Amino acid sequence: MKKVFSKIFALLIISFSLVCFSKEILSDDSLKNMEIEDFVKSYELALKEKNYEKLLNLFDDKNPEFKKQETDRWKVLFKKLNLDTLKVESFIIGIIDNEAEIIISHTTEVPLNNLLISAYNNEVYKLSRIKEKWNLSDYVVFKELYGTVQRNLKVKLMPETNELRVSAELLLKKEPQNRGKYFFKLDEDFKIEKVSSESGDVEIKKLGYVLFLKQKNYSEDKNVKFQIDYSGKVTERNNQYVKEEFSIIREENFWYPKRDSEDYSIGSLEIIVPKGIQTITDTGILTKTIQDNEIETFIWEIKEPTNSFGFLASKNWEISQVEIKNQRVYLHVMKDTKLDVKKLVKKAEEILIFYNDIFGQTRERTFAFVEGPFSHTRLNYIPFDESIMAHEISHNWWLGAFSADYATNLWLCEGFATYSDELYNEMKYGKKKLEEMIFYNLIKYLNAIKKREDQPLIDILYGSIVYNKGAYVLHNLRYVVGDEIFIKILKHYTQKYFNKDVNYRSFQSAAEEIYGQKLDWFFNQWLTKPGIPEFELKYQIQPQKGKKSVIEFTIIQRRDLFTMPIDIKFFTKNKSARKRHWITDKEKTKSFLEKLDFIPEEVCFESDIAIPTRAIFEFAEAFNKGAELLYGQKKYSEAIEKFKQALQIKPDDLVVRRELAKAYLENGDCSNFEREANYLINRKYEEYEYDQRRWIYLFYGNYYDLKGMREKAIEMYKKVLEIIKGDEHPQNMAKIYLKKPYKKELKKDSIE
Ligand SMILES: [Zn+2]
Repeated sequence: MKKVFSKIFALLIISFSLVCFSKEILSDDSLKNMEIEDFVKSYELALKEKNYEKLLNLFDDKNPEFKKQETDRWKVLFKKLNLDTLKVESFIIGIIDNEAEIIISHTTEVPLNNLLISAYNNEVYKLSRIKEKWNLSDYVVFKELYGTVQRNLKVKLMPETNELRVSAELLLKKEPQNRGKYFFKLDEDFKIEKVSSESGDVEIKKLGYVLFLKQKNYSEDKNVKFQIDYSGKVTERNNQYVKEEFSIIREENFWYPKRDSEDYSIGSLEIIVPKGIQTITDTGILTKTIQDNEIETFIWEIKEPTNSFGFLASKNWEISQVEIKNQRVYLHVMKDTKLDVKKLVKKAEEILIFYNDIFGQTRERTFAFVEGPFSHTRLNYIPFDESIMAHEISHNWWLGAFSADYATNLWLCEGFATYSDELYNEMKYGKKKLEEMIFYNLIKYLNAIKKREDQPLIDILYGSIVYNKGAYVLHNLRYVVGDEIFIKILKHYTQKYFNKDVNYRSFQSAAEEIYGQKLDWFFNQWLTKPGIPEFELKYQIQPQKGKKSVIEFTIIQRRDLFTMPIDIKFFTKNKSARKRHWITDKEKTKSFLEKLDFIPEEVCFESDIAIPTRAIFEFAEAFNKGAELLYGQKKYSEAIEKFKQALQIKPDDLVVRRELAKAYLENGDCSNFEREANYLINRKYEEYEYDQRRWIYLFYGNYYDLKGMREKAIEMYKKVLEIIKGDEHPQNMAKIYLKKPYKKELKKDSIE
């Protein structure tokens, strides 16, 4: 799933475990006033006793709106504690969104033996890194402390007023350590109307996103049941809204009382909507529909525990069913759709057949393709969009077939899905398409680690590293073991671990069983460490008598040292030879002699992009810098130079040529823009290169707009819309420019 895979958040996010009831004990002011020594003493004592409640009480809320103050408070605290010199045995770190690094960098020098971490949002992945970096013996995760056993939600959707009215019945695990105190996350939009509990009075506090409930008479050995009624207008945020045409209610937005993201439960979701509206839920199929005159109720009985309660709703869907490769697939298609539904279904079928063939059978599953203004995928539905189908359908295997702790094994999910998409494209359009995709995997990964610290794949949650480097690692494995064995490995892995728990070592052992040799060296260097190798080749051809030759060549490692087989190709027009040599992670350079019975004209790496060569890094550097100059810094002449450099390394790269044209356009250089754009419009295209054509028509439209030739501009924008393939971005832009001409601040020497 591209955007969100909610189980991931599940694992360690215990942000709200540091919440508001502690306010009573320790407010901002009281912390400031508290003697630091006392604080440390209390903390150490609590930690020694493993009294987690006490620990929590020492710290405060993680409400997003308090983030800034919170961070400042942490900083003040760390400064006051003079952590550089203070020898505390252990300490609590709060990780709050992106501020986390600031906090951590303040404390990296501290000798820490124990660490209690509260992680918020995607910062969770840092846990294992921190653990490693500081050599921590222990850290504490709270997930066992909390749990909702059952959750019955009744939701009334009111699109005319953009409101939700919810009645939530929660059955909670008995948690004697909480002594009747419970806290939940619940969107600040909502107003609590009523709370009741079987066992008597409840004290209620709602502060921002935090809902705190305290049972007046709690009993240590009873499960707790709360009934919470609330309602409110749904503010459009984080891709959640309630509107007449379409509504999106997302689990991430705390629209129902949730304890932590690990908070799985069974139960039911009843969605009550005005007549005519259809809904689809995140992870389960709606089993029953009760109808009356004005409203309809959709019921989802939740028998498998889930933490993803969410749904889409629209009055504009036409719903149908198709059988695709013996799987029942629902289609939620807009009544006025412009999609070529038959073609898309055919494509889905083609993808399923292909995956079944190479990965083997997987679980039968019912899911839906849904058309609408959303881009996230859930277990139950996939956006009806050609460009992401192959990736998303592959999650039937790389998610559906196993279970895993995805906080440390997301590679098994997203790296594999990305590479599956590439395998499908290779089958469909050939090796050249595959190589192009792998090439840009690398470029994107290199761009990502320019902006943020590189991390081992096993620590990563989302972002370019897990998708792009993740796919690249699989391609590299394929290069090491060979095509045939690689495909066998994938099938063996899915079949061997079907319905079982997996981690990356499971995949490794499946790979070793087929390959017949240990692959520790491969998995350790690619998964457990950050980084990537960079290889350069130097050679000398010494012709010998009788048209023979001796080649002296050296492989140089310029970056992180890796163990790799290196295939070298020696060739003339008519003859070629290929030899595999190994370099290890102990060797910066390694020289070889090769005797050939012909005299090669050239010697090069042969790897279908699996060997990261110096040229690739140089290209990445030039291209990524060019893009930054063009879109970020708006330094067009410099961007043009960078793109030209990139083209010297990889002539006729269409993405670079397209961006070069854009840079000329922005720079007001008419003749060069026309030359590049005309070349791109008139050249012959492969079937899969639709994106390039759309972008260049879009840029041409912009160009005509700038020249005041509106009719011609419109003509170009319409051409963008004619090519309905690939990602929607250029089309959305074209729609905007069809309404309103493209404009820019012209430079003096710009287009007249
Ligand atoms: Zn995915």
